[in-house]
Amino acid sequence: MKGTGVRRPAAGRTRTARAGLALAAVLAGGLAAACSGPAATDAAGKRPAADPAHGRPAAAAGARAEDRGGAGALAAYVEKVRKAQAARAVAAKKWGLAKTPLPAPPPPKVKPKITTRKGFETDGEGLPPVFTTVPTKEKIVFLTIDDGAEKDPELLRMMSELRIPYSAFLSDYLVKEDYGYFRKMQDAGVALHNHTLNHRYMPGLSYAQQKREICDQQATLEKHYGKRPPLFRPPYGNYNENTLRAAQSCGVKAVPLWAAEAFPDRMEWREWDRDLHPGDIILTHFRGKEDWKGTMPDMIRRVMKTVTDKGYAVARLEDYV
Ligand SMILES: [Zn+2]
Repeated sequence: MKGTGVRRPAAGRTRTARAGLALAAVLAGGLAAACSGPAATDAAGKRPAADPAHGRPAAAAGARAEDRGGAGALAAYVEKVRKAQAARAVAAKKWGLAKTPLPAPPPPKVKPKITTRKGFETDGEGLPPVFTTVPTKEKIVFLTIDDGAEKDPELLRMMSELRIPYSAFLSDYLVKEDYGYFRKMQDAGVALHNHTLNHRYMPGLSYAQQKREICDQQATLEKHYGKRPPLFRPPYGNYNENTLRAAQSCGVKAVPLWAAEAFPDRMEWREWDRDLHPGDIILTHFRGKEDWKGTMPDMIRRVMKTVTDKGYAVARLEDYV
């Protein structure tokens, strides 16, 4: 039942906590009504004794008022998520998705501590971590789209209507053809991150050259989009210690790679089990029919089928990293 928000209250929790848990269960039940698929059926099957106020012995007036306040805020949140999921179900039909994407759980209050994946270390210590999966127990994955060649307005509409979060890793030599396209993306809530100026093979460059590729792209992104991004992804996933030092010198905090790559007609997997895992980062690219077998919406339909069929929701990378 991971990822549905349904949890059994543990003995000894406060009444407010129990009310919160019961409402979380209502949330899962409500969401189940709005979406389809096996996870939803599970959640509906566990639809709880819904009203947290029922069956509760009278308590001190102060405690009741406090409960109502907390429960009221939570109920408003539940309603907001329910409405969002209903809209997402409509959008899923419109855009031809096989199933409605599952809702992501609320972001964590504290971001997980991320360390470099085993085997991905350099000799340098204290450098930004390089990782392919975010540590979490939630059934969530992250969608990241690289480079910037294809600038399909349909993608912006589709992702906004479906409310699927993603992050863009941009190379200036492609983005500069149309900075405005990615500004619209940013306005829709998408974070724009660093993928170098010219998409070179980083280990083949000197420290100074790498620094120019990475740090000049930080400055370019800041100039056009007002922010120096905290995340950097080296082209092809190739890097050395100089890459991480250069990135760190101009404000990069973390270097997310990927655990799986999405195409319009298939997935490619890093792990031997050829499967998704909680916190996996999925890579794909801004490409069109001249580059691969489909459009950006075709690719999204394909990757979302895999993600939803396996019971995962897409969460926002910046909420966790
Ligand atoms: Zn790339």
